[in-house]
Amino acid sequence: MATETPVDARNRMRDEIPEAFTWNLSDIYASWSAWEAGLAEFEQLLPGYAELRGTLSQGPDRLLKAFRLGDELGQLSYRIWYYAGLNYDQDQRDNAANARRQKVQILFAKAAEARSWFTPELLRIPLTTVRAWMSASPELAVYRFAIESTYHQQEHVLDEKGEHLLSLSSRLGDVPHDIHSMLSNADIKHPVITLHDGKQVTLTYGQYNALLQTNRNQTDRAAAFHAFHETFAASANTYAAVYSGVLQRDWFIAQARQFKSTLEAALHGNDIPPAVVENLVATAKSGTEPLRRYHRLRKRVLGVETYHAYDQLVPLIDCDRKYEYSKVIDEVVDSMKPLGSDYQRGVRQAFEGRWIDVYENPGKRSGAYSAPVYGVHPYMLLNYNDTLDSVFTLAHEMGHSMHTMLSEAHQPFVYSDYTIFVAEVPSTLSEMLFFDHMLSRTTDQRERIVLLQHAIDDIVGTFYRQCLFADYELQAHRLAEQGEPITAETLSRLYFDLFKAYHGDSMTYDDSAQITWARVPHFFGSPYYVYQYATCYASSAQLIQTITSGSLDERREGVERFLELLRAGGSDYPMNLLKRAGVDLSTPAPAEAVVAQLDRRVTQLEQEIERL
Ligand SMILES: [Zn+2]
Repeated sequence: MATETPVDARNRMRDEIPEAFTWNLSDIYASWSAWEAGLAEFEQLLPGYAELRGTLSQGPDRLLKAFRLGDELGQLSYRIWYYAGLNYDQDQRDNAANARRQKVQILFAKAAEARSWFTPELLRIPLTTVRAWMSASPELAVYRFAIESTYHQQEHVLDEKGEHLLSLSSRLGDVPHDIHSMLSNADIKHPVITLHDGKQVTLTYGQYNALLQTNRNQTDRAAAFHAFHETFAASANTYAAVYSGVLQRDWFIAQARQFKSTLEAALHGNDIPPAVVENLVATAKSGTEPLRRYHRLRKRVLGVETYHAYDQLVPLIDCDRKYEYSKVIDEVVDSMKPLGSDYQRGVRQAFEGRWIDVYENPGKRSGAYSAPVYGVHPYMLLNYNDTLDSVFTLAHEMGHSMHTMLSEAHQPFVYSDYTIFVAEVPSTLSEMLFFDHMLSRTTDQRERIVLLQHAIDDIVGTFYRQCLFADYELQAHRLAEQGEPITAETLSRLYFDLFKAYHGDSMTYDDSAQITWARVPHFFGSPYYVYQYATCYASSAQLIQTITSGSLDERREGVERFLELLRAGGSDYPMNLLKRAGVDLSTPAPAEAVVAQLDRRVTQLEQEIERL
């Protein structure tokens, strides 16, 4: 790797960042004209659907041809979408990239329309007939799970006319997310605050998070917190109207497809019983005592008179250790040792092949993600800022990317995409392994405290907060389902009541936190997504136990089961895949294990603090 540039150059322009720390998008296409050619190729394939229309019942060959056309378009769609999308995300002020991205969206809507007859026509063929075809044709049998699960959804598939109408509405359905993204990224005016020492700070997302995680002055944190949330509160009514758009769309789709609720509609495709979410939310809500105990400990250690939401993330003790990107690469690779040397080699390849866009630059999309560009390799977007948190984010996204790699290598295209229900298992497990590695190698008691705090904050953020969010989404969607008014006030009250129910008397509440719901991108971009962070966290908590404890044989078997889960991609229902890996989410046991784990970690932390 190239030499690290100093981190105070964080706000440098993109072209000032050494190439080694940027992703190499020419692995997808060499140029925009090559991308244009991909677009044209995609468009030329579309009439293939019209040729197949009305012929599926003629025999297995026609059905196979339709599936293969879908594969061809699907593989191409990854490239054309991500080439435009990743270019756009590296600087969202780039109108030309944005226009190209929209061009792909329009093309995809066209493709969905061209294909809209397919499922209804397939479903008119009796399943017994299709099963006989699959028995006779190994090539068609590849699509068995895809076919069986399509029939599983039969009761919720409309007739051809209905499906056509729904496909026409898909562009409308994307609008609330686009508005939210524009409002919160492209058009946002990040507030500038003055710290107690007179220094001025622009609260970009990266700076805001860094400030709450590092600034030891409570007045500064309070100022940042209020300014940050007031930015959202200033557009509260707009955010509420946009969110109402999300809720109404979900309820529209649920009703159009004859589901009893939006939750049922969201879970049906993956064959997950709604009780999984309802139990999860209930188990978390009744297991908040260790959470409150942690906040009471924090209040004591921080020595603050009143303890607030903005005091949750600041380190309990001073440890100004920075985790330079170049220096953590080996640590990340080493931490994956329990998963075997092949796995480690894959991780190394991601670092060396410029799969990662490391640093923040003006206009860059906030947050972090791993993008599965089929046929190329996964890409990772980071906003790395040298904090311990950003190293864990790196480990997290690496888990996603390895999942993508293994799934693509072992599954046919049709199953290469795993569901979000299992997606967060390898990423959280990756973080847990990294935590274990760091805790075992440090001899510094202060770093132990920092790491333990990180692990606890991780449980709080990945499990408790997501359960709270899931509860919020569930209740907000119920407002739409019951035809209740949805206003900024309603949504803020709903959020705030839940927040208080979780934290009880362990903190002092600030009114500006009420608007928090407006700044959670998942609520707008992927409803009923976040609960899966919690179920996945619970699954990982069980899996890591088998991987890192027990006899050598037991550990080996645990690793094999885990890797098998990754290799399996989306080849079965996620509940089945997880059951095979040893996790049963239809029981409260995994969630209860997290509550118990938090209880243990808080006790550990109390002891370390005592000793200090
Ligand atoms: Zn993730």
